[in-house]
Amino acid sequence: MMTARGRSRWWQRLQVFGEDDLLALAGRERLERGRVLAGTIDDLYEDEWSICGTVHDGKAYLAMVHHVGSPLSCECDCPDGAPGRWCEHVVAVGLCYLEGG
Ligand SMILES: [Zn+2]
Repeated sequence: MMTARGRSRWWQRLQVFGEDDLLALAGRERLERGRVLAGTIDDLYEDEWSICGTVHDGKAYLAMVHHVGSPLSCECDCPDGAPGRWCEHVVAVGLCYLEGG
């Protein structure tokens, strides 16, 4: 387990993002869809590089936001989820994270 102190050290390297960034990257329609899907995530977690979660949208999709470095990047294993493509699942993970899990 990471101590609170260790966490604060790497935390400072993370890129701060907000809902406005998700809107700019994904568009209004996906943001709204992601907001609904955010409620289906039950295993949100973060590591040194990424925020990950399983989004239940008919099937379970593993979506990630890579929040170290700039620009923000993402991945999802849904059919629409090419690396760097901000599908609604990735948006859902981002929103879930912003809302505190
Ligand atoms: Zn997806």
